[in-house]
Amino acid sequence: MATGIVGEFLDLKAETDADVLAMQCGDFYEFFADDAELVADELDLSISQKSSHGSSYPMAGVPLSELTPYVNALVERGYRVAVADQYETDGGDHAREIVRVVTPGTVLETSDDDARYLAAVVRDEAADSDADGPYGLALADVTTGRFLATTVDDGSDLRAELYRFDPAEVLPGPRVRNDDGLLGAVREDLSGRVTAFDAEAFATGRARHAVREQFGRETTDSVGLDSELAVRAAGAVLSYVEETGAGVLASMTRLTAYGADDRVDVDATTQRNLEITETMRGDADGSLFDTVDHTVTAAGGRLLREWLTRPRRDRETLAARLDAVEALASAALARDRIREVLDDAYDLERLASRTTSGSAGARELLSVRDTLALLPDLADAVAGTPLDDSPAAAVLDRVDRERAADLREELAEALAEDPPKAKTGGGLLKEGYDEELDELIGRHESVKSWLDGLAEREKRRHGLSHVTVDRNKTDGYYIQVGKSVADRVPEGYREIKTLKNSKRFVTDELAEKEREVLRLEEARGELEYELFEALRERVAERAELLQDAGRAIAELDALASLATHAARRDWSRPELTEERRLDVEAGRHPVVEGTTDFVPNDLRLDAERGFLIVTGPNMSGKSTYMRQAALIQLLAQAGSFVPARAAEVGLVDGIYTRVGALDELAQGRSTFMVEMQELSNILHSATEDSLVILDEVGRGTATYDGISIAWAATEYLHNEVRARTLFATHYHELTTLADHLPRVANVHVAVDERDGEVTFLRTVRDGPTNRSYGVHVADLAGVPDPVVSRADEVLDRLREEKAIEARGSRSAGDGDGTGSGAGEVPGGGAGDTQQVVFDLSSGSFAGGDGDEGAAGTGGSASEGSRNGAESGSMAAGSGERAETAETAAPAAADRLDPETRAVIEELSDVDVAETPPVELLSRVQEWQERLD
Ligand code: ADP
Repeated sequence: MATGIVGEFLDLKAETDADVLAMQCGDFYEFFADDAELVADELDLSISQKSSHGSSYPMAGVPLSELTPYVNALVERGYRVAVADQYETDGGDHAREIVRVVTPGTVLETSDDDARYLAAVVRDEAADSDADGPYGLALADVTTGRFLATTVDDGSDLRAELYRFDPAEVLPGPRVRNDDGLLGAVREDLSGRVTAFDAEAFATGRARHAVREQFGRETTDSVGLDSELAVRAAGAVLSYVEETGAGVLASMTRLTAYGADDRVDVDATTQRNLEITETMRGDADGSLFDTVDHTVTAAGGRLLREWLTRPRRDRETLAARLDAVEALASAALARDRIREVLDDAYDLERLASRTTSGSAGARELLSVRDTLALLPDLADAVAGTPLDDSPAAAVLDRVDRERAADLREELAEALAEDPPKAKTGGGLLKEGYDEELDELIGRHESVKSWLDGLAEREKRRHGLSHVTVDRNKTDGYYIQVGKSVADRVPEGYREIKTLKNSKRFVTDELAEKEREVLRLEEARGELEYELFEALRERVAERAELLQDAGRAIAELDALASLATHAARRDWSRPELTEERRLDVEAGRHPVVEGTTDFVPNDLRLDAERGFLIVTGPNMSGKSTYMRQAALIQLLAQAGSFVPARAAEVGLVDGIYTRVGALDELAQGRSTFMVEMQELSNILHSATEDSLVILDEVGRGTATYDGISIAWAATEYLHNEVRARTLFATHYHELTTLADHLPRVANVHVAVDERDGEVTFLRTVRDGPTNRSYGVHVADLAGVPDPVVSRADEVLDRLREEKAIEARGSRSAGDGDGTGSGAGEVPGGGAGDTQQVVFDLSSGSFAGGDGDEGAAGTGGSASEGSRNGAESGSMAAGSGERAETAETAAPAAADRLDPETRAVIEELSDVDVAETPPVELLSRVQEWQERLD
């Protein structure tokens, strides 16, 4: 059992559930034992050995002033770090206690401008264990005081919300903590840490109490936090913030309850697919946010990101944003002036938190002063311009500018112009701010100048050369006299030290002045810091005002950013219609238009035409077209202009996407199971007011399965869900659905084919496409020429024989003709082509009659012509023939002449592995002769 300092360390460590403890020992914070090793490992600190009562312990330490960066570095790596400070007891001894636990969700000093959320998730203990939810969710950004709470219906909504906020730390409530499936999913989605926090803090009574303590009973009721689950999550967050000692509770001035009616459901998969804040590869560059972000302040960037990741449904908010963007977009000069002013703004929301936590120094209060001073400048930039009575001006009017001016004034009167970085040691406050301080400073300065002039005076008075006055730690103030004249010093000089070339003396007067200067120095420092702290507290009391002003600046910045982008890229204001429609004229993809010469396209989804089947060759632009639709919808519901000549946008309650197995496979994410889970989620969650984007469904399985699932999903979405849907598919067969389902229409991405060259036109036209251009893509991709020309040959032959329509493809590549069936067709006997038809009335596959299926007569005979021979006849992959062979094959085989049948039997009996090649050759020759 360790005793002494290490024992104390280990005792304190046992008190906390933190991963690491830093304990103050005089001028250092020390880590001992395992903690020392961990810190040394993670942060390259050097380690030494501390002997304590016969045992030896690893030890590592950092100076007091350097603790913060070390702690933050540990927290960035996901550790929770307890900090124990040393204090003096009444008896004059030292004692230590833990004053703060720094955790990923409560750390104040962060290295970037992004919001940093702490989340708590609660589930009703009494809820049915089979049901998935509901959950209470609270999210707090302690660096800015943002605090939100809501209730979500199920695990998928919960994951979507968590993905959106990407919390640095998640506190699961008692029931959630034991839900391995959910926690596993959360861990997979997020980089944040999961912390098991005191279950008691999630209990209804305690949580409600915490919320009321913080916001008052009335506010708690009036913010509409009626859900007990949301209150429990919010209460747990408050307790955690309090318990970890971040000291920012006072900056959490408001709790925003947001409900499902205002939210647009964008699940985690869709957020990823639409590349809202990062690309599928995980880069911020090339995301939607990256493209439209022209903000000049950190807070503006945070807000714009929030708008894009949390689109809304309430018309009023969106209309106000659009009005503001419109006004700002057309008033270029005023906009530029506003952005110029904003460029000087500091992050007031963060400064508010730092002020309440007591970590803000004089320089930070100066930043507050300077940023508040911008408010009148911003008002000036707006006044007399077309913005004057626009919502852009209204944003500024929401700040109490008089109180802001008072605070600015108060800070201006108090703070020195160029205060030092250190909070203690003087120089923080202006002369004239406090009489007592001025007097102390006056006396301090006068003693100091007495000391400064002493050497000169002594030289003159006593005719000495080589005299200096200085101080150091051991000797205090002294008069130093050169050896040559040391014997001529006057009476009253007491020698204290002899050096090689000089001697040091003190006098009574000097000793007296030394005591005085030290006393004044200390008194001055103490008083100044006291005054500074009082000032900081007065600022902290106005945290809400700072947040309001910070928010207004952020909003103006985000709006100006949207306006700037709209003006630069010629975006237009979407008309938010009450109807269920998305009608886009000359729409573009917001990100792709910036990187290529983009071909604009129209889109119409409405009551008559609510489901578009999008066909076209691979690489022609199908996904781009569909994502563009989703992004235009999303931008409109973020309050932004959209990349189109004109757009009528009916608000949606959710945007759902699922992206083809191929793209996802590349991410190593998709399996057929995942694909089906995503489809299932869409079919369950989407409503008549949703927008659904399906980029290939069913490719992860065999053709028959795939088509059947895609077919059934289409019918379900069309008939039951009635969501506005865009569905890209390589199953051309599905295009026939347009003839049978009233709201389904076909569109295709056009290509131009001339002289054997295929050009992608990128133009979307009505009607289905008639073939795919896989071979062309193979060519583009650099597949060797001989293979490409052979593939062309094979394809031509297949087409001639119309066999292509009688055979689907189970190719995982891009469709027709290049799949496993292709090779055998040209050489295959004409008579044994197996026709399989998708029966549109029953929605099932039927084995075709051999007579009708005879190749060379137009492929699919009766069914085929009904469906349109070129475009849509239903075909089955030859690789799938086994499924129908049982019904169809015997009939076909019966009609073969006996000789042919014999050849086929012999052929299928051959053991290729066991037969020598030469013999094989001669047998093939023989069979051919017999067939002739
Ligand atoms: P598909 O989904 O049909 O395979 P993509 O949508 O992935 O095709 O588009 C293929 C390529 O074409 C992409 O590189 C994209 O940038 C480009 N593209 C798509 N649509 C357009 C367009 N309208 N104008 C210009 N380039 C486009």
